[in-house]
Amino acid sequence: MPGSILIARIFGIDIRIHLSWFLIFGLLLFTLSDPSGGLFRMQRPQWSDQKLVIVAAITALLFFASVLSHELAHALVARTFRMPVSSITLFLLGGVANLRKEPPSARAEFLMAAAGPGTSLVLGGIGIAISGFGGDVVSDVSALDPVVVVANYLGYINVALAVFNMIPGFPLDGGRVLRSIVWGITHDRARATGIAARGGQVVAALLLVYGIWRAVADQDAFGGVWMGMIAYFLYTAASNSLEQERVATAVRGVQVQAVMTQQFLSVRARTPLAELVYGQLVPHNARAVAVLDGERLIGLVTIADLQKVDQSAWPQTPVEEVMTPASHLPAVSSTTRLMTAIESFASSAAPVLPVVDNGALVGMLDRDTVASYIRMRETLGIR
Ligand SMILES: [Zn+2]
Repeated sequence: MPGSILIARIFGIDIRIHLSWFLIFGLLLFTLSDPSGGLFRMQRPQWSDQKLVIVAAITALLFFASVLSHELAHALVARTFRMPVSSITLFLLGGVANLRKEPPSARAEFLMAAAGPGTSLVLGGIGIAISGFGGDVVSDVSALDPVVVVANYLGYINVALAVFNMIPGFPLDGGRVLRSIVWGITHDRARATGIAARGGQVVAALLLVYGIWRAVADQDAFGGVWMGMIAYFLYTAASNSLEQERVATAVRGVQVQAVMTQQFLSVRARTPLAELVYGQLVPHNARAVAVLDGERLIGLVTIADLQKVDQSAWPQTPVEEVMTPASHLPAVSSTTRLMTAIESFASSAAPVLPVVDNGALVGMLDRDTVASYIRMRETLGIR
């Protein structure tokens, strides 16, 4: 996600904060500490303005830690099932753990999805218990009183977090739980995704209606816009999942070799960029050229790579200075599942992927060719 900053590394997972998260932080701080009508002012009218702000800031930080724990729970369970999680990003609408692979089984997905809301529920229970017990033994003027107030707020907000996430619309956690159950019963992941993602679209539509109702009937424009944004995010994510599953169904059982081209252009590492452009790219209307040492692939150079160097320097700049080294390219062989290669395209900017068998370049897989191949299979109804 662009616009996010790395703040920590926990269990080898990058923890990032998107700039939009600071908006949440500020909003929460204001809602809690506003001296003329904030939540804490209502609960403790005797507190000084300064005390309000300090307690609210601590609450906002602990809320951040709560959301992070929720995401870490997903990530750690995912890791036990060999689904590597590279990073967790907290943004405007909550957190996302970036899974690099789809879950291998219904059971794995169920446990992974339930871990987040489960953690929020436990944190919520602890908060409510502390505030309940503390409220009985600690007086309003005690130094420990803020603990009761903070625990009470975090208790309810964590329960709310668990409940919202368990709404059965994919890709919310509840939607994932629903998908894993349908998947477990029918042994058909595509059908399960279809049902859960349609659930996500329905939930998004209901949220939008609720948002409009809040804006109109409650005169709460802010709450309405907020609901609308969540609805939009959910709808887009659910539709993307449907699309992804549609593609996976269309190319089921197909390997890369069925779609790759064996005619490709290549240059040596020392070839100057000018020769690459006027000798290869322009005459062949190509978008990428493989960089070879004998038959061995050492890199890929694309039009985007050429834009990094000023045209006047093309005659004296060798290809190896701008190419993407082979070690940074997704590993695709002729027998790789086509769907795996499509997922690699999603995580890479390259217009083509080199196909390598035992270190030797055997072909190229073109993004556009793959797209038209999928359309062809779908149009003909080939399954
Ligand atoms: Zn979650």
